[in-house]
Amino acid sequence: MEITPEESTERTDFIREIVRDDLRTNKYAGRVATRFPPEPNGYLHIGHAKSIHLNFGIAQEFGGKTNLRFDDTNPTKEEVEYVESIKCDVRWLGFDWEEREFYASDYFATLYSYAVKLIEKGKAYVDDLSADQIREYRGTLTQPGKESPYRDRPVAENLDLFERMRKGEFPEGSRVLRAKIDMASGNLNMRDPVLYRILFESHHRTGPAWCIYPMYDFAHGQCDSIEKITHSICTLEFQDHRPLYDWFLDELEIYHPQQIEFARLNLTYTVLSKRKLLRLVQDGHVAGWNDPRMPTLSGLRRRGYTPVAISDFCERIGVARNDSIVDINLLEYCVRQDLNLHTPRKMAVLRPLKVVIDNYPDDLVEEVEAVNNPEDASMGTRKLPFSKVLYIEQDDFRELPPPKYFRLSPGREVRLRYAYFITCTAVVRDGETGEIIEIHCTYDPATRGGDASDGRKVKATLHWVSARHAQPATVRLYDRLFLNENPNEVEEGQDFLSNLNPDSLEVLDGCYVEPGLADAPVESRYQFERQGYFCVDPDSEKGRLVFNRTVSLKDTWAKIEKSL
Ligand code: ATP
Ligand code: MG
Repeated sequence: MEITPEESTERTDFIREIVRDDLRTNKYAGRVATRFPPEPNGYLHIGHAKSIHLNFGIAQEFGGKTNLRFDDTNPTKEEVEYVESIKCDVRWLGFDWEEREFYASDYFATLYSYAVKLIEKGKAYVDDLSADQIREYRGTLTQPGKESPYRDRPVAENLDLFERMRKGEFPEGSRVLRAKIDMASGNLNMRDPVLYRILFESHHRTGPAWCIYPMYDFAHGQCDSIEKITHSICTLEFQDHRPLYDWFLDELEIYHPQQIEFARLNLTYTVLSKRKLLRLVQDGHVAGWNDPRMPTLSGLRRRGYTPVAISDFCERIGVARNDSIVDINLLEYCVRQDLNLHTPRKMAVLRPLKVVIDNYPDDLVEEVEAVNNPEDASMGTRKLPFSKVLYIEQDDFRELPPPKYFRLSPGREVRLRYAYFITCTAVVRDGETGEIIEIHCTYDPATRGGDASDGRKVKATLHWVSARHAQPATVRLYDRLFLNENPNEVEEGQDFLSNLNPDSLEVLDGCYVEPGLADAPVESRYQFERQGYFCVDPDSEKGRLVFNRTVSLKDTWAKIEKSL
């Protein structure tokens, strides 16, 4: 995907066109009512953010309202923890559902009465076939289904059996309630779908009150109807379910929302199926739902993403009717844009190399002035201590510099940012391993602030920290969780886990950051000069900060080196 920053004043897409038309024709008496309907069976991810932005965004734009509705019809997979995390994440994105927090389970009694109404109309029946038999009888795309022998039960018998299902008289799996539509329909969803099943399972909200639960397909459209939703926006895979939802609304003779399908978000190097994300968590491939490598909103938050960046991303990807895969670089571009404008710059050395400045006085400490954000003068400046022993990045020194490598090497002069020019004079090696353990330099006192009065130039500017003053830190560097652009593309017999990147997390323990970061609060974000954007992880302790890398800066040298 081409990343072209594009500004448009009025948002237009096919859904907003529909809404505008409906307002023009006064279809819903000027009302716009949308909802975001998550199933509380996992944490929200960046795909949900697309749906949230769409639903809340449209309501805001057209003076409407958005409900938060939990589609909690399956007590076996749903948990209060998920409900709480979903609310927290929607709020974090900056949206407010006010008092309109609803649950499909609030409507269990109404949905039950709807089912009774269908039975009374001869449009639903209790079926004694097993789940396997129902599947078998269903037929295929090329073959029509077969009618159940219980399909023509009299209404009175159906009413009696359904009521007894509800009372708990029959074991799980022994009976279901089905709609009576058309076993020969070209649309498999219309082949007498199951409406209710028996589950002796306590529900996170209704407790033991029910032992029959409505299927998602029987609940979803009716919930939208009950809440008088005008535009039921959902993802494309529900297009084939729309005739069924319409059939329910028509047979029940209730308010009819308009369903509109759009393409779900797919991202390269990412899985966005909750089932797969749960697998990553349960099998311990990540540290939890909020592991910073996860595409969940809680993971992105812990990684250092901002709501503004996510909102910008949602704007840029837009909405369309065709499935496509968005390049994850676009998401990273959006977060860089936002962080560049708003995060303070800091000095941090991730892989330290000790530098001793031989001609600098032993006990002298000077303060140099550093700019907090070159993009925003109002963020001011800060003082950094400078002294005889410093750390620089190991990568910033090469004993034998390759061509086009302009950083420090023996005999070469470079600038220490905001401080002085230094020249490398000697290298000290470990007697046993031969590894370089420190380097010695001289500095030119006439270059204070970073410029030479004689006008001579250097080709590199390095970041540094004063060894005596620096704060120790741990830095976690994250890479893509999957090696393959499409994690679901696997060899025969393998699953998406075979594409996991074994090096998606690198932990650096011996890092040093500038002293001003000592009290950096959890979730605060910074640009570490020349390296990238970082934020403080909740695992931080006093005296041992833990930073997560949100995203790197574009590393120009890595590019040059690759092309050499
Ligand atoms: P999954 O397939 O990951 O289980 P889901 O669609 O079952 O996702 P829900 O909790 O039902 O998850 O989703 C709530 C809302 O978010 C739905 O309206 C759904 O269409 C939307 N949504 C889910 N995933 C995406 C996605 N990748 N892109 C856009 N919208 C999504
Ligand atoms: Mg769903």
